[in-house]
Amino acid sequence: MTAFFSTQLDFILFFYGLSFILLGTTCIAIMRIGRPEAWVVLGLFGFVHGSSEWLDLTAMVISDSPAFDVVRLAVMTTSFVLLMEFARREALRLGLKAPGLWVYIPLLALVAAGGVTFGMTAAVAFARYIFGFFGAMATSLVFARLAQTFSGFTKRLALCAAAGFAAYAVAAGLIVPTGKVWPTTVINYDWFMQLTGVPIQFVRGMLACWLAFSIWSIWGQNLIAEVSSARYTRFIHRQFVFTLIAMAAILVAGWTLTELLGQIYKHNVQQKASGDIDLLASRLRAETAALDGMVKALAGSPAILPLLDGGSQNQIGTAKSVLDLNVDASGAALGFIFDRNGKVVVASSGGHTARLPASAADRSAPDFVKSVTGEAGYHFAFDPRSRSLDYYASYPIRNHGAVIGVAVLKKSLGLFAVDLKYFDHPYFLVDPDGVVMLTNRPDMLLRTLWPLSTEQSRQNARQFGKLIDRPLVENEIADATWINFGGARDFARRRHVGHGGWSLVMLKPIQQIYASRVLGIIITLLVTVMTLIYLFGKERWFHDSIQMERRLQLQNLAQDLRFQATTDPLTGLFNRLKFDQTLSIELSRSARYGSPMCLVLYDVDHFKDVNDTYGHQVGDKVLTQLSHVVSGSIRDCDVLARWGGEEFILMLPGCDAEMARATVEKLRTAVTQVTFDLVGNVTCSFGVAEWAEGDTAEALIARADDALYRAKVKGRNRVETIVRDAEELPSVAQAQ
Ligand code: GH3
Ligand code: MG
Ligand code: MG
Repeated sequence: MTAFFSTQLDFILFFYGLSFILLGTTCIAIMRIGRPEAWVVLGLFGFVHGSSEWLDLTAMVISDSPAFDVVRLAVMTTSFVLLMEFARREALRLGLKAPGLWVYIPLLALVAAGGVTFGMTAAVAFARYIFGFFGAMATSLVFARLAQTFSGFTKRLALCAAAGFAAYAVAAGLIVPTGKVWPTTVINYDWFMQLTGVPIQFVRGMLACWLAFSIWSIWGQNLIAEVSSARYTRFIHRQFVFTLIAMAAILVAGWTLTELLGQIYKHNVQQKASGDIDLLASRLRAETAALDGMVKALAGSPAILPLLDGGSQNQIGTAKSVLDLNVDASGAALGFIFDRNGKVVVASSGGHTARLPASAADRSAPDFVKSVTGEAGYHFAFDPRSRSLDYYASYPIRNHGAVIGVAVLKKSLGLFAVDLKYFDHPYFLVDPDGVVMLTNRPDMLLRTLWPLSTEQSRQNARQFGKLIDRPLVENEIADATWINFGGARDFARRRHVGHGGWSLVMLKPIQQIYASRVLGIIITLLVTVMTLIYLFGKERWFHDSIQMERRLQLQNLAQDLRFQATTDPLTGLFNRLKFDQTLSIELSRSARYGSPMCLVLYDVDHFKDVNDTYGHQVGDKVLTQLSHVVSGSIRDCDVLARWGGEEFILMLPGCDAEMARATVEKLRTAVTQVTFDLVGNVTCSFGVAEWAEGDTAEALIARADDALYRAKVKGRNRVETIVRDAEELPSVAQAQ
């Protein structure tokens, strides 16, 4: 579990940062619906803290430096200061006691002092203790207090957020990176990991998620209250569930992709490691193969044989020159010819000054022992004094089948090591026990790669002195395995080199594995952002469409009301109110431009009789039909309205008395020609008044009424016109 999580830290940091950025977005969205300003500060905390987690991720993936460390500390501290500031402002708004802005000065000074005195990790710990813990705790209290101002579900959500912040205060404010100062030495990331098997960042990420969703839900409840539409409420509930599922699905899919990319990289590392170790082994084989071949040639050389048969000084000279030639050709350091008893018969140039294997029993020449029995001997030997590794190859010298001596060539592997000094991965040539005899990591020389038995340790100690016994890995590396080496994860590959159980081990660090996983993380981020934009946009669209629908309904209602206010319900003509408005506009137009205009009042003749004979409903129908006939016979610019009962009024803009008379006469005739249902023919009497300079609406109407009266008196079904002239003016005035 621990090992699994330690390889997933990048995705955990990503997820952690993302949750906080979501929290930030939600808070800013809440602002839109008129929440107090402090929410911007909480939103900023979300953004800044999320960014600080992503900076940690960057440090892990790309590389870290002391300067970047300081930047990350600054960003993290800023985020926690913002959290504390949110709590401070909300506390003040809720009427609680809170210190002024000055409080940050001594607190920040404390963090800086911690950093200067105890170092960077202490500064991080101080920032977390002071701002992280107290900031989140204060925020938790603020949410608990806010919950009291809410009711129902929103109240529960606010309590959820309060609990989340309290837990976050502990996770982010008390559990800090391992440092040198108490209590960071005790309660730290490692302690938490050992205790739970889960990295603290994972727990913080989950809490951030919890907080983001609690606050998001509070926002949702606010929106629901604001819009107060059952359809919108249903939509928000569905949207909430959908977002939860979508986010979980994206994160799981993103993680799977990230893991897959990591695996592909791992696979490549393994492949490459296998190629590298083959290369290393063949390089070593090239070193030893020349010696193996040459020693055989030496043992079979006709110049050597007579020497062991008790040869002369001359023969010794010949043998020595052959030996020197062999040593030279094979790149060996030294060459010897031994007799059967292990006595040196001849040595290559410089061989006498070098330390020689004294006898066959010398432990440093087991190859010799083997060759005396008639076999080829190959042997690596570490010289503890010169701390160098040598390779010995020996071969029996035979005379008619019997072994009479042994040829030995010795080569130092120093050159091999020099050649590989710049091989960029650690490699180790280890003896059969797993003790490192040759390596490009000087600190690892003579250390054991895997645990030794006590007997082996003792034996090694006798030979090489006290060794560092702490092994590199817990078990012997069989072929290939993933190991933790110096805090990093490596792929280890082992290959036997074929000479008495010696083997080569090579490590391939896989630090860049995170870089290959970043692609997965970036894709996850893009998909998350796109999904959120879509979901947010959908919410906006739904919100707006509901508001639009509402507006339309209101508009329709207003239109209905306006219609009702200006229309006569029976005939559908304008009512008196509307007609008065129109008349006053027309009168002012005529007054300004002097354009002619006539007013006509008409009344159905003997309508009482219609009602009496056929009933009121039939009477109504007559009025409706009459209205259709008249409105169908006038111009668009004429205005017709029901004046009251069976009396109608008609305005003829642009008509003088003459034109009006003609028009109304046509109307009268048209009416007489209509056959009304059940009733048959109906007639009307018309009174026409022409507008004159200085006329008021009342005066004009009164004249039309007079004209109508005249038409009635004169026998009905006729048109009477009154044109105002100077003489008539007083009489009209009198009539009024
Ligand atoms: P005249 O105008 O020719 O002098 O005779 P008239 O019978 O039409 O007399 P008057 O104008 O005084 O009578 C109006 C009658 O019209 C009275 C009333 O019962 C009827 N009336 C008024 N408004 C309505 C209505 O909305 N529907 C119906 N069916 N009848 C109405
Ligand atoms: Mg009437
Ligand atoms: Mg009438």
